[in-house]
This record gives sequence, C-alpha cells and structure tokens, in this order.
Amino acid sequence: MIARANAHVKYPCRFMLVAAANPCKCGYLSDPSRACSRAPACGEDYMGRISGPLMDRFDLRVDVPPVAFTDLDLPASGDTSTQVAARVAKARARQHDRFADHPDAHLNADAEGSTLTEIATPDAEGRALLSRVADRFGLSARGYHRVLRVARTIADLDGDYGVSHAHIAEAVSYRVAGANDV
Ligand SMILES: [Zn+2]
Repeated sequence: MIARANAHVKYPCRFMLVAAANPCKCGYLSDPSRACSRAPACGEDYMGRISGPLMDRFDLRVDVPPVAFTDLDLPASGDTSTQVAARVAKARARQHDRFADHPDAHLNADAEGSTLTEIATPDAEGRALLSRVADRFGLSARGYHRVLRVARTIADLDGDYGVSHAHIAEAVSYRVAGANDV
C-alpha cells in the first residue's frame, strides 16, 4: 500500500526479500583483523538508518563474519546444496499437506490467527522461552507471530510434528542477538 498526500494505491504483491548490508559504515565492525575505529557507534548509526518497523519484517537476521584468506581454500563443511534443497522440498511438501484444506494458507508464512495457534503453539518450555524473550526484548505482536512461523518451519525442516523449545530458541536467535541468554 503506497500512501501519499492525496492517494492510496494498493498493489498486488507477494515477494520474499533477501538483503545484505555491511555491519557498519566503514565495514570493519566484526572484522577481528581490521577493527572499526568507532565501534559500537559506527554500527549502531549505520543500522539505525533502517527503520524499526522495516527491520521487524526480517525474519532471519544472520551475521556473516569475514572469511580469512587462509580459510578460503579449506574444503566446504556442512551439507551440500543438494542435501539442503531436498530438506527444503520435504518441508514445503509437509506444509502443502498441512494446508490442503485451508483456503487462506499454503505455507506457514501465510498462517494467521487461529490457524497459527493451531499449527505452531510450542510446548510448555518453548512457550516459557518465547514469553521471556518477548518481555526482555520488547517483541512486537508482529515479531511474536513471526517467531512462531519460523519455529514451525524449523520443526518442519527437522521433520518434527510439534514445535519445541529448541525450535523456538533457534527462531528467536535469528531475530534478536543474545535471545538465548534469557
Ligand atoms: Zn565501522
């Protein structure tokens, strides 16, 4: 919805936004070999240019530390892209089955209200963690619901039926730094 002085225009749109940014204005905030000289203000000023409500809509925020030149030649670790793609395809297939009878939702990302409650209510431990994080970091209602959708998706990637403490812990770690220390 674009709102200007004398017109509101609603565009049909459905997209996934992937964005990248330097950690601070000079770019060296998280680089151990070339320390940013104005830390932490350099990073706070820089990231502060993105409004809170916009930032709140990013579900996964991942710090990517610089790779040392000596590490560039190391063999790749972890799963291959083919393995990851297969896991994602399975998780999406689970979601299509889950929402087969839902007119409004096809994926976890679409789930709202009672549908979200039905599919993503965590176990007692997960609920307790989420309410501690919400209190400590002042999660918005939007942020709270987004954590639930991400946790449901992590559970789907793990092939788990229910949303547990571990899924909530991983989901909040993508939203707020230090979330798992609460
Ligand atoms: Zn800097």
